[in-house]
Amino acid sequence: MKRNKKISILIIYTGGTIGMVHDPLSGSLVPIDFKHITDHVPELGKFGFNLQSVSFDPVKDSSNIDPETWIKMAEIIEKNYNDFDGFVVLHGTDTMAYSASALSFMLENLGKPVIFTGSQLPIGLLRTDGRENLITSIEIAATLEKGLSLVPEVCIYFDNELTRGNRTTKFSAEHFDAFNSPNYPPLAEVGLHLKYNKNLIRYPSPDKKILVHKYFDTNVAILKLFPGINRNLLQAIINTRELRGLIIETFGSGNAPTYKWFIDDLKQFITKGGIIFNVTQCHGGSVEMGLYETSRELLSAGVVSGKDITSEASVTKLMHLLGRCSSKEEVVNCLSRSLAGEIT
Ligand code: ASP
Repeated sequence: MKRNKKISILIIYTGGTIGMVHDPLSGSLVPIDFKHITDHVPELGKFGFNLQSVSFDPVKDSSNIDPETWIKMAEIIEKNYNDFDGFVVLHGTDTMAYSASALSFMLENLGKPVIFTGSQLPIGLLRTDGRENLITSIEIAATLEKGLSLVPEVCIYFDNELTRGNRTTKFSAEHFDAFNSPNYPPLAEVGLHLKYNKNLIRYPSPDKKILVHKYFDTNVAILKLFPGINRNLLQAIINTRELRGLIIETFGSGNAPTYKWFIDDLKQFITKGGIIFNVTQCHGGSVEMGLYETSRELLSAGVVSGKDITSEASVTKLMHLLGRCSSKEEVVNCLSRSLAGEIT
C-alpha cells in the first residue's frame, strides 16, 4: 500500500448532518461550503492529496433522496471517473444504505472506490463523529495497491468499519455505530491500523470498462407481513395501478401465511405479469423457500427468493432491474443472482 502525492479524491456532498456547522449569525446549523473543507477539517491538508469537491444545490436531507438523485450522483462519478482515484460521497445516514445499494447496481465494472459516509453529529460540533468518518473515508478511497484501488466497490464507512454498501443497514438512530452488515463481514476494520479483508473485496476484470446504468422503474412496493394481515390490504397493494414488482417481507426463513386467499392473490398477480420477491424481515440470515410448509406454496406460486439480501438492496435492485431489463424473465433471472455482491 502506498500513498502518492498526486492522488486525487472527489468529495461529493449531497447533504445530511455531516456537512453542517453553526452559523455564528443565526445560531442555526447550515451546510459547509465544501470548497473550503480544509478550513473546517485542517487535518485533511496533511494527506497531500488533490482534494476537490462538488456540492448538491440545494443539499438534501437524505429522506428526500430518490432515483433522480442517484442518477445525478452516478453522472458526477461518470464525468469525473478518469480524473480521480476515488470518490467520497457525503450523505445523510437515514437513506445512505439505499443510495449505496442503488449506486452499486448502477456502476457496473466499477474499478475505483465510492465510499459513502456521514455522521450522527454535524462536523461543526465538538463531539462530532464526522471528522473521523470523513478522514478515514478519504484515506480508504485513496489507497492503492500496485497502482490499482484496493477497494473498488461502493461501500459505507462508518464508526471504524468499512462495509459493502448493498449489504449494509442502518440500525441505530442514536449510536455512533449506526450501521451494520448482518450477512457479510466488513471489508475493512479500523483501529490503530486499517485492516483490509482483501479476500472479501470484489475486483472487476481489468479489461472491462465501467458501465453506468441510469434507469429505474419505481412501480414497486414493499409489504411487511404481520399476524392478522387482511385481504383488503393485500388486494389494495396488488391492484395498485402499474405495480410491477412487490417485495414481501416475510417471517424467518421466508415464511408466510398459508391462507388460500393469500396464495391465490399472489398467484394472480404473478400470472398477470407481476414479480414477487421474498425478503426476510429478520436482520440476519436467509430466505429458504420450501424449508417449511409455510413457504412451499410461495415457491410453487413463482415467488422469487431474495436469499440474504437486505431490504434496502432488494428495493433498489428491483427498481434497477425493472428499469434496465427488457423482459420479466430477465428481471427474475437477475434477481436470483448476485449483481454486485448483494447476495451470498
Ligand atoms: N436526517 C438526516 C439525513 O439522513 C440524518 C443524517 O444526516 O444522519 O439526511
